[in-house]
Amino acid sequence: MTVAVAPSEGAVRTPSDGADGLAIAGLTRMSTCDWPDHLVATVFAQGCPWRCTYCHNQAIIDPRTPGVVPWSQVRELLAARHGLLDGVVFSGGEPTRQLALLDAVQEVRAAGFGVGLHTGGAYPRRLARVLPWVDWVGLDIKAPARLYRAITQVGGPTTSAEAAFESLRLVLASGVDVQVRTTVDPTVLTEADVAELSAVLADLGVRDHVLQEVRTQGTSPQYQAAMVARGARA
Ligand code: SF4
Repeated sequence: MTVAVAPSEGAVRTPSDGADGLAIAGLTRMSTCDWPDHLVATVFAQGCPWRCTYCHNQAIIDPRTPGVVPWSQVRELLAARHGLLDGVVFSGGEPTRQLALLDAVQEVRAAGFGVGLHTGGAYPRRLARVLPWVDWVGLDIKAPARLYRAITQVGGPTTSAEAAFESLRLVLASGVDVQVRTTVDPTVLTEADVAELSAVLADLGVRDHVLQEVRTQGTSPQYQAAMVARGARA
């Protein structure tokens, strides 16, 4: 069963079929780059409440799109890869959008594998529920709070920022190993904005902050045109 989940954290049905309810858009069976120094399988969860300017996988955003990989494939992969894989990374989309994530991470841990999580922090309360079973988090913090909406393109002026920074505080308080990542969108962020964000993160206690260059491949035609126009002006 695929569970349609609304952006509000309170308006979500509870799936009745555990990890099998996870809507999965894709599965990478072996990856060396999704969790630093770990060999993992990566599960891409379908659906995201945000509409980031630079999102390079538009097809993964719609929460109404059903999954195309059954959880049983992940289960079978893990059964065959004991001693070969260090763990599973849940990525997306936004994996914390789906309540079935909790069952999935618990199943992975019970099978003896580590759990990594890529998240933008859109659902802090759901993140708090899964954190006890997570070994490492790659958390996207996209901008200083006042510029968040210019990137996520949803909600009120600070809605997505409040969720993301609340998630950051939760992860830092939990003691779970975390890498904070910022994709630098040059159509929104100046060098001074990036420096401001780095300083804010350092003040909050972030020790591992990585800047990522934006990639235009797979982004919307509007974003590609904006980047071309920007290049033409430079
Ligand atoms: S949070 Fe990630 S998946 Fe969601 S829209 Fe932004 S870039 Fe795309």
